[in-house]
Amino acid sequence: MAESRSKKQPASNTLAARLARLGLVRDEDFILHLPLRYEDETCITPVAAAVPGTPAQFEVEVVRSEIAFRPRRQLVVQVRDASGMLTLRFLNFYPNQQKALQPGARLRLFGELRDGFLGNEMIHPRFQAIAPAAPLPQTLTPVYPTTAGLGQATLRRLVARALERCNLDDTLPAPVRSRLGLPTFAEALHLLHTPPAGSRPQALESRQHPAWRRMQFDELLAQQLSLRRAYLGRRARGAPRLAASGGLTQRLLAALPFRLTGAQQRAWREIAGDLGQPHPMQRLLQGDVGSGKTLVAALAMLQAVEAGHQAALMAPTEILAEQHYRKLAPWFAPLGIEVAWLSGSQKKSEKRAAAQKVGAGETPIAIGTHALIEEGVEFARLGLAIVDEQHRFGVRQRLALKEKGRFAHQLIMSATPIPRTLAMSYYADLDVSVLDELPPGRTPVVTKLVSAARRDEVIARVEAACRQGGQAYWVCPLIEESETLQLKTAEETYARLRAELPQLAVGLVHGRLKGEEKTAVMAAFAAGRIQLLVATTVIEVGVDVPNASLMVIEHAERFGLAQLHQLRGRVGRGARESVCVLLFEPPLSELARARLKVIFESSDGFAIAREDLRLRGPGEFIGARQSGLPLLRYADLEDAALVEQARHLAETLLSAAPEDAEAHLRRWLGSREALLKA
Ligand code: ADP
Ligand code: MG
Repeated sequence: MAESRSKKQPASNTLAARLARLGLVRDEDFILHLPLRYEDETCITPVAAAVPGTPAQFEVEVVRSEIAFRPRRQLVVQVRDASGMLTLRFLNFYPNQQKALQPGARLRLFGELRDGFLGNEMIHPRFQAIAPAAPLPQTLTPVYPTTAGLGQATLRRLVARALERCNLDDTLPAPVRSRLGLPTFAEALHLLHTPPAGSRPQALESRQHPAWRRMQFDELLAQQLSLRRAYLGRRARGAPRLAASGGLTQRLLAALPFRLTGAQQRAWREIAGDLGQPHPMQRLLQGDVGSGKTLVAALAMLQAVEAGHQAALMAPTEILAEQHYRKLAPWFAPLGIEVAWLSGSQKKSEKRAAAQKVGAGETPIAIGTHALIEEGVEFARLGLAIVDEQHRFGVRQRLALKEKGRFAHQLIMSATPIPRTLAMSYYADLDVSVLDELPPGRTPVVTKLVSAARRDEVIARVEAACRQGGQAYWVCPLIEESETLQLKTAEETYARLRAELPQLAVGLVHGRLKGEEKTAVMAAFAAGRIQLLVATTVIEVGVDVPNASLMVIEHAERFGLAQLHQLRGRVGRGARESVCVLLFEPPLSELARARLKVIFESSDGFAIAREDLRLRGPGEFIGARQSGLPLLRYADLEDAALVEQARHLAETLLSAAPEDAEAHLRRWLGSREALLKA
């Protein structure tokens, strides 16, 4: 039975499939599918009183109806009410529509009237034949977000049915509601879905309306409850205590030519403390580019190893993973600790061999890309999983990692400074350590804004810097729309610079290179055999070549603020005075000018992130967009006061009224909870 039905109707096209595309499955989903705007069909406007361009409802009688052929075939219908005449035009129409529009028919029309060639007219108005004195609707008509093939009438019917069936009991305690001045859930919902006649559509469309505030608060509360519950769940889970006397970490520190910064010491103390606990650490190590996160990660790995467990470090790109490997393996080798390397571009046999040793517990440390969490890699006794720049991984990989590391300690490293409200909302399940201090001896990077008209001077500057023993990056113009075009641009830039600077050793690195090619180029640059490295944004994160002291970013106006800051962080890593030249193509748009001004004036990652958030909105931080579903539909993360209140209530609700918390989560999240936490 089911089979023959599915043959007739392809699954992707059924009503259920269309609804699912909008996330509409359970009754709760329907009632929380809130209108975009409203149409007022509760009253009749006399034709003579209509304002062109403003939607209104009319009640008329058809006077004449004919098919005209100029300029093209169309149905032209004359109608009138007591106050005046109106022409309706239908460019597409069905025979039964034509039949409904015969002289004498009484109609209700809804739409916008416009000044036509022959007086007032309406194009394709929505119309309905009615009996004389038919009653008017008692509520405004909601217009819902929808998808192709799903009409408003269907949606309205389904929402109304869900409203009748659903339990609308309040999940907020009455005192909280009155303190925040919010209506009950049922009141807010009824008002938003079925506003009584006389309500002003504009007032209801404002997100400041108390009914909307209630929905926003509920949504934030659900998010906070979910994160808080995950936090408590983690605390209740077991993890190996990674306690150690500190022998290995002491030996590494003693071998380094520098000492930990105060910030590194603080972060390391916090992490070491967590690792000694019998439940999994979940900590974010946040520090601006160059603040020395890798060393802190190394210390954590050594503690895990000394406690008899394995540690893994996963990075989102080959280049970055490789860089970690190159930095860490020589630190660990003198301590007699072997490091396994696992990456996607590796030969199958090599990967298998590495996975085997990891599985047998022979190599205590593994570094690599997401190959680390793929099928076939099973750690014998994973105690600590470290993820660099986690937000660059896809949702699926993040979930896989979460699963794999359920009983291990987790450390997440990020150079993307996360504004406070975002951290509160998305990372409420994380403890945070901040490296707010750069290692000493860094010379601040001088940033220059240079018009592309002066490109020749910049070329001369690159040559001079390299002649004096320095090295330089040349970042290619960003072409977001097309990877192919991006590649072409990179190759052209490379060819052109080679021609312009024949005496320099020039290299090229971009995302399409094979793993080993990329590695070879980066190694040559690190060793100084390449003087000028032409690169796409693949070098954006983590690349560390201290001798490189000049960076040129072409078409800087096309890059985002966070990206520019990350790129600029590739220089200023050694003792040499460093310069970052932002080449821009005039004329600049308002927004581009604002961005370049910020990056020119500030080198503080947090200040830049704040400005970025202001200029661009929160969407792009932390990869929220990758998850596909909007995590917050009604609330705004910048609404810091509301976020704070939701967070506070989440804590008390979970302990004081767990059933309410549970009901609230079910209502708002349903099956989306796993995604939210990915
Ligand atoms: P990021 O936080 O951007 O990952 P890294 O860990 O790559 O920074 O560190 C940047 C550079 O600073 C590396 O070359 C690293 O060896 C060096 N470094 C780290 N800690 C210190 C320190 N306390 N003193 C001096 N140099 C340090
Ligand atoms: Mg790093």
